[in-house]
Amino acid sequence: TAKQQGKAGFVRYVDGMGEPVLAHMQLGAELRRALDNDEFRVVYQPIVRLDSNRVIGVEALVRWHHPSRGVVGPGDFIPAAERTGLIVPLGRFVLRETCRQAAAWLDEFGPDALKEAGLNVSARQLHDPDFVSEVAKALADSGLPCERLVLEVTESAVLRGPQVSRALHELDHMGIRLALDDFGTGESSLSLLRAFPAAIVKLDKSFVDGIEIDDGHPAAADARQAVARAVIQLAHALGLDTVAEGIESPEQVTALRELGYTLGQGFHLAEPMTADGVSRLLARQQAVARLQA
Ligand code: C2E
Ligand code: MG
Ligand code: MG
Ligand code: MG
Repeated sequence: TAKQQGKAGFVRYVDGMGEPVLAHMQLGAELRRALDNDEFRVVYQPIVRLDSNRVIGVEALVRWHHPSRGVVGPGDFIPAAERTGLIVPLGRFVLRETCRQAAAWLDEFGPDALKEAGLNVSARQLHDPDFVSEVAKALADSGLPCERLVLEVTESAVLRGPQVSRALHELDHMGIRLALDDFGTGESSLSLLRAFPAAIVKLDKSFVDGIEIDDGHPAAADARQAVARAVIQLAHALGLDTVAEGIESPEQVTALRELGYTLGQGFHLAEPMTADGVSRLLARQQAVARLQA
């Protein structure tokens, strides 16, 4: 049912085969087996310039190609992977794979094609005393320059105490860029930005949903626009880049551009796709650029 690989290299999965079902199957043991069996894959969602539609980066997103269930999305197994600690080896796989792939793109398409590749890191990984050295090793082994790697963390992960904070500062000092993911959904977004060495804030999809609606009494849209505006003003004041998440329509692009957003991510711009899909996109982008030159 779930597996569906489109011609363009899109990979979709069907939601809702969720934890209640998989819990019966001793999800922890299943995940362990899946790791040993090489059943995890990384797909990449482009991050795009809102003015030109040029791809400037990607976010790595993990998928589980289950032998009988098809493609399972991270929402259905990341929580269990965190509980069981298997997120540590799984996260290491995503890290190494993403660095390797980003270095290959750099090699094939040159330094201007893709500025950066990001991946998600959970609190459990940041607590692992080996995490920082594993990142350093993944960069060294792949040859990817540190400034081309983005690590996305959520506010709740950042708030997990001094050990996590130390790891984040070490990563920052190494020249790795840190992004605050799902920004605005946590409880202390603003105070967090002072203490946390963020380079990028990702405006959560919940503030993008409905941001384009203007019916003359746009109370709901107004509230979202107010948050989106506050976030970009804050980001500018602090010298941070912004990415608007979950963009699903051209009207949202217009509304976000009017607010000053220059980078976005979402199904309307590009869906998560295989590495080959990204390669084709970059090749096409370079061909177009050559024609225009
Ligand atoms: P996230 O980091 O906020 O990633 C963005 C999610 O939004 C992705 O879902 C992406 O497919 C989805 N998305 C992108 N554009 C749109 C859109 O226009 N509309 C809608 N409705 N959704 C959109 P995905 O791949 O299911 O990942 C869900 C979450 O799972 C991620 O949220 C992230 O928190 C976590 N995750 C994914 N991969 C990893 C991983 O390798 N490690 C860890 N620790 N967490 C991961
Ligand atoms: Mg993310
Ligand atoms: Mg996000
Ligand atoms: Mg999100």
